[in-house]
Amino acid sequence: MSTDARPHVRSQELHQRASRCTPGGVHSNVRLPGPRIFFERADGAWLRSVDGHDYVDYLLGQGPNFLGHAPAAVVEAVNEACRYGVIFGGQHEIEVQAAELVCETLGWPDMVRFGVSGTEAVQAAFRLARAATGRTKIVRFEGHYHGWLDNVLMAPDGDGWGTASAGQLASHLDDVVVLPWNDADRLAEVLAAGGDQVAAVIMEPVMINAGVIEPLPGYLERVRELCTSHGIVLIFDEVLSGFRLGLGGAAGRYGVTPDLATYAKALAAGWPVAALAGRADLMERFGTGEVNHSGTFNGSVVATAAVKASLERLRDDPPYAAVEEHGMALMAGIRELGETYGVPLRAAGLPAAFHVSFGDADVVDYRTLQQLDLARYEKLADRLVDNGVWVAPRGVWYVSACHGPGELDAALTRFGKTLTEWL
Ligand code: PMP
Repeated sequence: MSTDARPHVRSQELHQRASRCTPGGVHSNVRLPGPRIFFERADGAWLRSVDGHDYVDYLLGQGPNFLGHAPAAVVEAVNEACRYGVIFGGQHEIEVQAAELVCETLGWPDMVRFGVSGTEAVQAAFRLARAATGRTKIVRFEGHYHGWLDNVLMAPDGDGWGTASAGQLASHLDDVVVLPWNDADRLAEVLAAGGDQVAAVIMEPVMINAGVIEPLPGYLERVRELCTSHGIVLIFDEVLSGFRLGLGGAAGRYGVTPDLATYAKALAAGWPVAALAGRADLMERFGTGEVNHSGTFNGSVVATAAVKASLERLRDDPPYAAVEEHGMALMAGIRELGETYGVPLRAAGLPAAFHVSFGDADVVDYRTLQQLDLARYEKLADRLVDNGVWVAPRGVWYVSACHGPGELDAALTRFGKTLTEWL
């Protein structure tokens, strides 16, 4: 467990115990890297470990805790909903309220289907796109993440992209075309040659998972035009960006409307809910039964109560300006620390999510991101955790509605201490 001077006796005991009954001691491989810390509880922007150490949280459970941990209004709504029962194999009015609220809040979609994970929502989108177009191919982009299933999990493989896991069927990637992102000319070229075989283009409209890279001006607009002219379904994967970049997510922020979009994470303040939203002519294919989308736990009372309470809170008391201000100040503070300590610390991206690394490069896509010293940051991230800043090695920092001046001060003081010890 890293070089942390603080005792982690209880965490270590629990990790050993966990490793005997759970592979790697974790329930998601995303949690395999990094220290095996067990937490007792979390409140707002703070985590407390079972050994009594506190952490200012900029990982936020990989994004979902946009309202901070245990937001009172959502906890209350969920507790109340638990008393009604959870799943009926039928419907409850809260589902309707939550679905209406999703469509109203986003502004553009006509309909929404709830599910449990972002991974599933992406698969449902592919199925709709293939059914609607009668085509098979999916265009996706280097570095974007769309879940852990066989047809979307990919890793760099020599000059191209291939399977990322043992046991993954390479044949499931046969219908997947991988292109560099932020390059509309390249997409235009590929679609000019074979656009009539492409069912969907899917992307994170801001590539948060790899480097928090924004679309270049005009890029999303051109992708939109290309998809329309080739009869291709444009899917925005807003699992991370949705309700985080503003009430309208990335589509609202950049003013480009997809045909379908996936949401999760900030949608329900940490409760496991995902959604696929889109135009009625596409979504209705689920309603007629032509396209299958199922799930025992979809749209449970508890899940939809969490969606409703989260979106009401975001609508009635929008945290976006404060989140942006905090993110800007934190990025500036990190850059200043770099200057003070004479290291090329880079903090870039959106204020609500940003990327920290070492180096200086014109980063516009996954390949240019590799010019940064990402490995050096991974080591720093371990030390930041040792000093009570909860971040992941991948360099993406998430800001919540609960991050204020106290958290800013704690984060920068602890970051400075880390650099003093490390350099
Ligand atoms: N799409 C994006 C953009 C994501 O960031 C993630 C998860 N990080 C997923 C899809 C998959 O979501 P889940 O982990 O809920 O299956």
